[in-house]
Amino acid sequence: RAKERGGNQIAFYTSDLSQRARMQLDIDAGLRRALQQGEFVIHYQPKADLHSGCITGAEGLLRWMRPGQGMMPPVEFIPLAEKNGLIIPIGAWVVDEACRQIRAWQDAGLGWMNIAVNVSARQFHDEELERVVAAALQRHGVPARLLTLELTESMLIERPDETIERLQRLKHIGLQLSLDDFGTGYSSLAYLSRFPLDQIKIDRSFVVDMVTNETSATIANSVVDLAHRMRLKVVAEGVETREQLDYLCGNGCDEVQGFYFSRPVPAEEFERMLREGKRLSAPADSVSVQRS
Ligand code: C2E
Ligand code: MG
Ligand code: MG
Ligand code: MG
Repeated sequence: RAKERGGNQIAFYTSDLSQRARMQLDIDAGLRRALQQGEFVIHYQPKADLHSGCITGAEGLLRWMRPGQGMMPPVEFIPLAEKNGLIIPIGAWVVDEACRQIRAWQDAGLGWMNIAVNVSARQFHDEELERVVAAALQRHGVPARLLTLELTESMLIERPDETIERLQRLKHIGLQLSLDDFGTGYSSLAYLSRFPLDQIKIDRSFVVDMVTNETSATIANSVVDLAHRMRLKVVAEGVETREQLDYLCGNGCDEVQGFYFSRPVPAEEFERMLREGKRLSAPADSVSVQRS
């Protein structure tokens, strides 16, 4: 086809392709080096309990600190690492580092924190996942209940029977399983009840809609109720305003995570929050006001 459009077109197409190939190669090499040279870090975004206001743990979010080029956010390199398979060793590093950090905070007298890590599709389908996770927990002497794996709906619904077995094996280790970005997919909570999950995380877009749109608010309320009846904990993510927080208190949501309470921060800063006993202010008031 390109031929019919003449020589220039072909040349353009070819150089565009090779440029993209070169970029991919650069990133591949960069990611490989990043692992070897320790350029990855995890930032921690605290989660707060809506009843006590206390920090219950954090989500670990990966950052690539490129020398001389600043920080690259995960949305820019995770898809590339998924494509070239490097997500497998990178994901294993994240699990190990999270376990090391849980142990370090406990040893520092800050108590046991629960850390949630994100698992990509390729990693989830990798045969080695259970072994990698179990080995990391053992290496650092961390009880399995302190590690949460965040999974997404698309990973679960592809081959449901196989997935249920895999989830059961992960539950058997003692891990917590969380469904990330709930409300962005198409499955109902009733359908998702087939999977042995411990919690759902209501996606930021849903949280935003909830306070502005009555239909979304009604859906959000019934999601929280149904989740509780299914014995799932409900965490809201991307909570940015007091208004959203108050609404979530009122509809019985269990935990919140978002810029309103804290951005994702380096480990030392999270540690400082723990030492200072950072809490959400007066959540109990809004609970009684909204519930009546
Ligand atoms: P996610 O798991 O849904 O993580 C939540 C994202 O929302 C994070 O972006 C977080 O910084 C951001 N966020 C938190 N609170 C707020 C808020 O109040 N407002 C707004 N606007 N955003 C908020 P981040 O760190 O850039 O991560 C993006 C995505 O990258 C994550 O989405 C997750 O899917 C993926 N990711 C991060 N770390 C890893 C990792 O170690 N492995 C894998 N496979 N994926 C990861
Ligand atoms: Mg997540
Ligand atoms: Mg999420
Ligand atoms: Mg999200």
